[in-house]
Amino acid sequence: MTKEKPQGLETLSIHAGGGPDPATGARTIPVHQSTAFVFEDAEHGADLFALRKSGFVYSRLTNPTVHALEEKMAALEGGVATSCTSSGHAAQLLVMSALLSPGDHVLSSCKLYGGSLTQFAQIFPDCFGWDSTPFNPDKADEARAALKPNTKAIFVESLSNPEGVVADLDGLAALAEEAGIPLIVDNTMATPALCKPLEHGAHVVTYSTTKFMSGHGNAMGGAVVDGGNFDWAKYADKFPRLAKENPTYHGLVFTEAFGPAALAMHNHAVGLRDLGMNQQPMNAYLTFVGMETLQLRMDKHCENALAVAAYLEGHDKVESVSYAGLKSSPHHTNAQKYMKGQGGAVFTFNVKGGHDEAATVVSSARLFSHVANIGDTRSLIIHPSSTTHSQLDEDGKKAAGAAPNTIRVSIGIETLDDIIGDLEQALRTA
Ligand code: PLP
Repeated sequence: MTKEKPQGLETLSIHAGGGPDPATGARTIPVHQSTAFVFEDAEHGADLFALRKSGFVYSRLTNPTVHALEEKMAALEGGVATSCTSSGHAAQLLVMSALLSPGDHVLSSCKLYGGSLTQFAQIFPDCFGWDSTPFNPDKADEARAALKPNTKAIFVESLSNPEGVVADLDGLAALAEEAGIPLIVDNTMATPALCKPLEHGAHVVTYSTTKFMSGHGNAMGGAVVDGGNFDWAKYADKFPRLAKENPTYHGLVFTEAFGPAALAMHNHAVGLRDLGMNQQPMNAYLTFVGMETLQLRMDKHCENALAVAAYLEGHDKVESVSYAGLKSSPHHTNAQKYMKGQGGAVFTFNVKGGHDEAATVVSSARLFSHVANIGDTRSLIIHPSSTTHSQLDEDGKKAAGAAPNTIRVSIGIETLDDIIGDLEQALRTA
């Protein structure tokens, strides 16, 4: 018997998670805009509630349209199951709430999206008692030095927003293995079109699907993909919520009942149930459809971004460009190893001058939309130090690559000449 060949990313993007609707024959997935789902009888209801049977109960825990997206994401990423959330931030909260207790510690990259830096530095310790130590994600030894007995996870962005630092996934996965803790990778900026963290030994992949996965700037969402490759039961004392009896399910142990999908099941049956950050069916539908063109879009995003970065690198009004796709970038070696040599679509550049010059360029752009988002078909521009990273102090901004003269762009899939033309007129204004 010949082994079935695994399907390619483009095929999975289109077909995984959704065949024709068995009830109507509709070829695209229906939007199940329903809060609850009818039980066959009292016993069926009781079985679903006790997790003895799988099925749909109430859309805070699971919904068929959201589930279709979860299947597509798991297939693309190579995980065992996915839990979709209302946003990327919610995905981070969901996974951390499954793993951490008050007094626990996380090694978290110092090169994260500004909102995530704040999440780890402020709200997590203040509200939940989860402390973290930042480290440079391309330096696994720095993470090793910061490891504590109560460290329960490592969290990095595979390709960081906004600087494009590429994490040393192999080095961090080796450290995670040694320490008996999971490596959690936010793959928002790279997507599986550039990088599959599970193939490098990561255990969990998180997403803001708001960005390139949905791809059109029209649907908030997040996801936690369970790699199914971490032995929670081996470290039951560290991860009691997954590997010890759960009182709200009459002593059920998630690792015993659900094996490799223990984390994903816990995320639905406890995390989403009790914290309530479920994704809306309409957003899941938009993301599901958007993902069908993921590879095509990412190819074009990267092609345009590389050309724009090269143009900016040679510009007399530009001081520096931080784009991992450029050979001159200190992150290019890791981009070749982990990102198929690509730098993604988002990067920063520093204009000559300071805050005022950068602000003038941002305000003068016409084709670029001046918004707090990335990963749209449209080109986007922003001044990070006064917006996305404004919650940080000056040292924090510097460390995160958001100096006063820094501009972040998310290069869209418009005609390249038009993108460059718009930047040229904006730079000439400054
Ligand atoms: N991760 C990354 C890399 C991001 O860029 C963002 C938002 O910009 C988030 C997570 C948070 O996602 P969301 O805005 O969907 O909550």
